[in-house]
This record gives sequence, C-alpha cells and structure tokens, in this order.
Amino acid sequence: MAGRIRDADVALVRERSPIADVVSEHVQLRPAGRNELVGLCPFHEEKSPSFYVNVATGLFHCFGCQQGGDVYSFVREIDGLSFREAAERLSRRAGVTLTFEGGGTTDRTVSSQRQRLLEAHRIAAEFYAEQLTSHPDARAGWDFLTARGFDLEAARRFGVGYAPTGWDALTRQLLARRFTGEELVLGGLSKQGSRGGLIDRFHHRLMWPIRDLAGEVVGFGGRLLAADGTPNAGPKYLNSPETPLFKKATLLYGAELARRDIARRYQVVVVEGYTDVMACHLAGVTTAVATCGTAFGPEHVGVVRRLLMDSDERRGEVIFTFDGDAAGQKAAMRAFEHEERFATQTFVAVEPAGLDPCELWMRGGDTAVRDLVARRVPLVEFALRGVLGRYDLDTTEGRLAALDAAAPLVGRIKDAGLRQRYAVNLDRWLGFLDEKFVAARVAEHRDRPAAGTAAVASAFGPRRAGTVDPVAVVEREALKLAVQFPGLAGPMFDTLAPEMFTVPAHRTVRELIARLGGASGGLARAGGLAAWVAEVSAAATEEELRRFVTALAVERVLCDRDVDDRYVDEQMSRIQELHVTRRITDLKSRVQRLNPVADAEAFNRAYGELIALEQHKRQLRERGVGAA
Ligand SMILES: [Zn+2]
Repeated sequence: MAGRIRDADVALVRERSPIADVVSEHVQLRPAGRNELVGLCPFHEEKSPSFYVNVATGLFHCFGCQQGGDVYSFVREIDGLSFREAAERLSRRAGVTLTFEGGGTTDRTVSSQRQRLLEAHRIAAEFYAEQLTSHPDARAGWDFLTARGFDLEAARRFGVGYAPTGWDALTRQLLARRFTGEELVLGGLSKQGSRGGLIDRFHHRLMWPIRDLAGEVVGFGGRLLAADGTPNAGPKYLNSPETPLFKKATLLYGAELARRDIARRYQVVVVEGYTDVMACHLAGVTTAVATCGTAFGPEHVGVVRRLLMDSDERRGEVIFTFDGDAAGQKAAMRAFEHEERFATQTFVAVEPAGLDPCELWMRGGDTAVRDLVARRVPLVEFALRGVLGRYDLDTTEGRLAALDAAAPLVGRIKDAGLRQRYAVNLDRWLGFLDEKFVAARVAEHRDRPAAGTAAVASAFGPRRAGTVDPVAVVEREALKLAVQFPGLAGPMFDTLAPEMFTVPAHRTVRELIARLGGASGGLARAGGLAAWVAEVSAAATEEELRRFVTALAVERVLCDRDVDDRYVDEQMSRIQELHVTRRITDLKSRVQRLNPVADAEAFNRAYGELIALEQHKRQLRERGVGAA
C-alpha cells in the first residue's frame, strides 16, 4: 500500500478538473451569475434549484441541504468514494499520474477497487465488440440486429458486442490481464461454475454496454441468442447483477448519449428496451433512454429531473412509450404515484397496434417513430381513460362506479386549474353532463395541504436577501467579497474590526481571516484563489462553520456589474456606517441620562464624541451611497 498522495498532485488534479465540468457529468447546470451556475441538488430532493457552483472559487454549495465543498468532495459524495478513490478518478479524467509519498505511482497494483472494476468493464466492452465482428457464432447476433434494421455503423455507435459461446473466454482474458477472480465476480463479469472454476456470466448473447452519465461502462445488458427452449440458456434478457458500479435503480441506458439533447429540448423519452433506444436515436429522437431491467422508479425520477434541469413548473416533458396493454397501464399508474408534480409533466405515447419503438422503426421508418412521440397524451388523461375503460359506461351504475374510481386520481392533482380542467373532462368522458356533481366527488378526495413544511433557518441564517435582517445581508456581503475577491477587497476588509460584525458566525469568520493574516495578500500567500479559499475553509475547524465558509465562497455577490473598487468601498463603508450608527444610538442614550450641569465634564465629552461620530457617519454614507 502506497502512502499519501503528494500535495502538489492533489493541487494539479484540482486545477485540471474544472468543477463545472465535473459537476455537469451529474447535474444539468445553467448560468446564474458571472461566476455562478445553478442546478437541482443531487444530494437532496428539491423542486427549485438551490445547488450552486462557483467557477472562480472552484466550490459548490447547496443552500437547501448545506452540502458543499470542492471538486474532490463532490466526487466523494456523489459516488460514495474515499478521498483516495476520488483523487484517482479525477486524476485519470485529468490525465495526471499521481505520485505517492514514499514512492509509487497510480498503476494496476495500487489503483482503487472502483477504478479496477471500471477498467475491467472497459476491457470487457472492447472484447465483446471485437467478438461481434470476429467470432463465427456471432452470426446469430448479426441476424438479430439486421432483422431490426441495425447495420455495423449502428452497432458501433452503441458499442454493441457479442458474448461468445464457450465458457470462459472473457474470464481468461481478464485473468491474463491480472484481474483477480474475486474482482471479476464482484464486478458481475464472471461467476463460479458448477465445477468450481470461474466462468463468464454471459454466454452467446448480444451485449449492450451500459454507461453512467460520465460515459464509463458500468454494466451490461445481454440478449439471449439461443433458440427458444434451449436448456439452461437463461432469461431472454440478462443484465449485470447489482455491483459497486451497477445500480440499476439509478441507471438509464442511453442517458450519456441523450443528456445534451434532453437539456436542450426539455424532453426525455423513456422507452423499454435497448433496441428501442437505438431505434429512437437513429430515427432522430435523440432524447430516448431506457431503464436497465427494472421498472421506472423514484430514483429514476430524480435522475430525469436533474437531466431536465426541471425547475419551472411544467416546462420539461417526460414521455413514456408504454404498451397500450395492461402492463403498460400499470407502469403508467406507477409513474403517476411517484410524484404528482412530476406526473403533470409526464406524457404517454402509445402505439395503437401495440408496437414498440423498435418494431415501429422497422416497419415505418424514422417518421413513424417521430410521430409516435408527437402523438403523446398527458399521463393523467391516459391513466383516467385506463380506469374508465374497466367499467361499463352504458349503465348509470357503471358510470357511478367509474367516477368513484377516477375521482381520487383527479383529486390528487395539486394544481387547482389543472384539477378543475380534469374534473370537467371526467364529466365529459363519463357523459353525466353535470360538472358540479363530478367536481363535488373530486373535492372529496382533495389532498390536504402538508403542514409544517416551512424550511427551518440554519444557525447561520437564511440566504435570500429580503427575508433577513439588512444588517446581516451587508455583513455577509463583506465576507463574500473577502473570500471571493481577496485581492480587491482585502485592504479595506482587513481594517474592519471583528466587533463591527454583529452576527456571531460573521464575527467568527472575520476573526478566522484575521488569524490567517488577513485577506489582503491572501491570494499571493496561498498561491491562487482556489488555494486561498481552501485555506480559509481548512481554518474552519467545525463542520458547520466550514459549510458556512463554502457558502460564502459560492454565493453570488450582489453586484450587477463586475466587482470593482467602488463596490468594495460601498460595502465596507456600509459596515462601518452601521457600526457608527449603533455607537451613536448608545451615546445618545448616555447623553440623555447625563445631567449637563451636574455631570458637565462627562456630558461635554459624550456630546463632542456624538458630534464627531455624526460627521463620520455622514462621510461614510456618502461613500456607501448606492450600496443600500
Ligand atoms: Zn442539497
């Protein structure tokens, strides 16, 4: 086991791993200021984005759940890695070879388990792809592909491969490349054979590599090629088992190909199979993804929303291409249950003849697939019609029973306008022609508003200006300037006494910066902005304080133009002015209590001081004008 990674390498990897690029592999970001980007937090469920990235300081911070830190912390949190694993992952991405104290570099023998499993998967994907064009038995795979209209180019675009017949072709390859049997079993590439030795997990199957959002192969989906009824051939579709890499609840096949267009078109098309994803992309529906051997679940909702940057009410569209059959109906109802608001953005595209997108593409070409998507109907409507279809609407009894079954669905729609619209539709579909009667039934099933959902402000105060004490806003702004613009703001900031900060946490940060020798010169001393911010952050010994410092380093400065001397001067003058104002108030109350005759000396001194302070305040106010 090698020692610590050298500090210089840690810094170099950080420098070559722009936080916006790394975060963008998981979260769709949009600009929110000169240096700031915003997106939906991957660490907690949220409807409006409070996850910020600051490209200048290289930090991220979520103002919702207070999760924050640098590019290393992000990778550690998002993938559940140790610091060392995160460093290895980022170093590989950045093309930096890590050197360890006490010798050694990143190579096979020291690389982390996750890196090794990724490497094994990369080799496996290459192996399978190569087998598809070289192995004699791969013909069955080509028959499968060509029957669906896929040629060599399509197979290459999606990395389709062939897991050969025989027992251990891949296993032998990987063992020869010094992977251990334990690793191959852990990664789901091999398994124990009945006679004790290791054998491949996949045999005589067409193989689709499944990638994470960063484009790394993390698992495979394999389609059986043996004739139906072949003994011991296994299921028609076999996926990688759950492994440290392969978490099917959060994976969407094709997401790494579709993500850019998903963000651009505010649309995701969810299909059922790997060939459906291929057909959609080839037909020009480049926003298609599929779940990997599991139903679309709540964690997929989170992934889709982050890909959509789903913040505006009903902006993005999620289109499911369910079968029109019972299973499809069920799947639609499940999607409806995930989240009401998600459901209102959800559409269903059903092919009347029950063809899946791949079959549709084979028969009708690109246009047919695009038409399918264009013919989408809102999920709510689809679900309601599904419910109504189970009743005999020719009888009053049947219509009443259908209403009883459908009213709870409509009642659950939180948007009042939408709920009313569906109540009217429901009445029409049922043929009562009595909107009030239907609306009353729906109203019985209204969700009660959730109580106590108001966010609890943290000890360090809520973020949005306007909801907080204006004095706290000014203090916070001064601290943000000192952290984010130490060169510009340092000289003035360093003259502010800690007692000028009234919020205890603000005073703590002011003292912390003083202990570091002040903000001016901090930049040069630390050797760069990111290093300066890291220094301030490292000086914060308590976790809560560290998070607060991160927030200060990420939060947008409230200046509409580029931050300049004038803005700094205005802000710092405001702090002083507020401080002087508090002293004036204290002094006035003292003057009130003094007797100008009996306490003449004290009175005159206090009075003189008061006059001087008033004058100082006027000067500060003139400088701080525009800062209010
Ligand atoms: Zn969060």
